[in-house]
Amino acid sequence: MSATSRSPSPVGPSEAWRSAMPPGFRWPDGVRAAACFSFDIDAESAILIDHPEASEHLDVMSHQAYGPRTGVPRLLRLLDRQGVRATFFVPGYTAERWPEMVRSVRDAGHEIAHHGYLHEGSRGADPDEEERHLLRGLEALDAVAGVRPVGYRAPNWELSYALPALLAKHGFRYDSGLMDADHPYRLAVSAEPGAASVVELPAHWSLDDWEPYNYLPGITGSGVIASPADVIARWTLELDALVDEGGLFMLTNHPFVSGRASRAAGLERLVTHAKSVDGLWVATCGEVAAWVETLDLPPTVHTPPILPDAP
Ligand SMILES: [Zn+2]
Repeated sequence: MSATSRSPSPVGPSEAWRSAMPPGFRWPDGVRAAACFSFDIDAESAILIDHPEASEHLDVMSHQAYGPRTGVPRLLRLLDRQGVRATFFVPGYTAERWPEMVRSVRDAGHEIAHHGYLHEGSRGADPDEEERHLLRGLEALDAVAGVRPVGYRAPNWELSYALPALLAKHGFRYDSGLMDADHPYRLAVSAEPGAASVVELPAHWSLDDWEPYNYLPGITGSGVIASPADVIARWTLELDALVDEGGLFMLTNHPFVSGRASRAAGLERLVTHAKSVDGLWVATCGEVAAWVETLDLPPTVHTPPILPDAP
């Protein structure tokens, strides 16, 4: 859309954003868009799932332990200063290894959600295997923190076609990680008429701190580590654009990554900015999902594309 066609709008600036809304979607009265600050406390799990030998490498383990030891406490202080409640996605293994840290997140009033057991990806997993990971993660969060999460985020955002049905079966209310929308939607577990559904809270790699910041030699990253000034500027552009679209800004940070001093300071500036945007609802993922559940949205059905015959 050109600048010329945006202004002046025949319906006025306060109404223009409504045209971008999907059918049946709206925010609560007085709200024009939403922002969730989410944190995946991967700690060691995201490394050990693919590199079990790294359990013997103190340097790598200490890099991951920065999250529970230093990043989470700093981020909790930040959120407390800002009066913002966030959602923390916690692998079961992280909960078992760092129980006091997970309880500190719970006790600070934040939402705790499911993030696998040992950060297992879904690619190549069968549904029975996926269900075992789901249940083991639930058991760990219950045993450590007495929490029964309603939200799920697939490790690596690898959500399989089978997993939504497992989420509905085990009482989850939402998933966060598909990438086909700017707004939350109803995710049907199958194409069957009347099939169960969960709420989907879409995310995107561009709003994840892993790619710009993270570097572990031989494991992840290119060695080019972005400046927080650049990253926060990019995230702010997306926040402001999604507010114009009436969408959901879903930021995904990892405490071992964005808990570092200048990154956390940049994040706090972004939180301050988000709170200053008129009509922007800063909420937990669970709060947004609960709102979306009140809407009569047509379910979205995802089916795998049929591959063409070989030439
Ligand atoms: Zn993760």
